[in-house]
Amino acid sequence: MRASLMMEKLVKGIHSFQKHFFTKHQELFEQLASRGQNPETLFVTCSDSRVDPNLITNSRPGDLFIVRNVGNVIPRPDLPGGTAAAVEYAVEVLGVKDIIVCGHTQCGAMASILQPEKMASLQYVKRWLAQTEGVRNIIQTRYGHLPGDAKVTAAVAENVLMQLEHLRAYPFVAEKLDAGKLHIAGWIFEIGTGAIHGFDPDTGEFTAISSADGAAAETMHRQE
Ligand SMILES: [Zn+2]
Repeated sequence: MRASLMMEKLVKGIHSFQKHFFTKHQELFEQLASRGQNPETLFVTCSDSRVDPNLITNSRPGDLFIVRNVGNVIPRPDLPGGTAAAVEYAVEVLGVKDIIVCGHTQCGAMASILQPEKMASLQYVKRWLAQTEGVRNIIQTRYGHLPGDAKVTAAVAENVLMQLEHLRAYPFVAEKLDAGKLHIAGWIFEIGTGAIHGFDPDTGEFTAISSADGAAAETMHRQE
């Protein structure tokens, strides 16, 4: 019953999209269809339903090449899969200029890494997140004093940085980074406030890029 009500809602949504958004931007869609896509950014984020890349960056169809998976993981280059294929396609074929890895607060994947017993029966989740087990060690070593929620947020931040390292391990990414043709960035979307924190390599901290309420930039402190 719930599923069919949801489906009804989605069908109404399709009608509304076609009547309003599509009609207003028909020219853009026609151009995208005839000329193809030319996105400048690869956006890697979590599958979490509360994170909407186009919405939080106010971007349009054709702007972002998006990869979503549980925990916004970039597999190491020796573990090929759908995400690695998307990174390769975005960099080698589409020639994106930026790659953003965007984690988010209250990430269930990061909470699971900290409490692996929660995913004991989930064989695929467990195997997928095994790639980020190093994050658990970092949290235990440097953030043991923090309360639970803060530990998850710290894991979100450390995980984003680990995925940036995995990105650099792809030879075609490293080559373009060295040539200055590609830039990579780590972001954290704070669900409850709408703020987005970007990693600053100079300070080693995540600092608010913009805040929904225009508040002064806040820093999410990391432990080196
Ligand atoms: Zn998540």
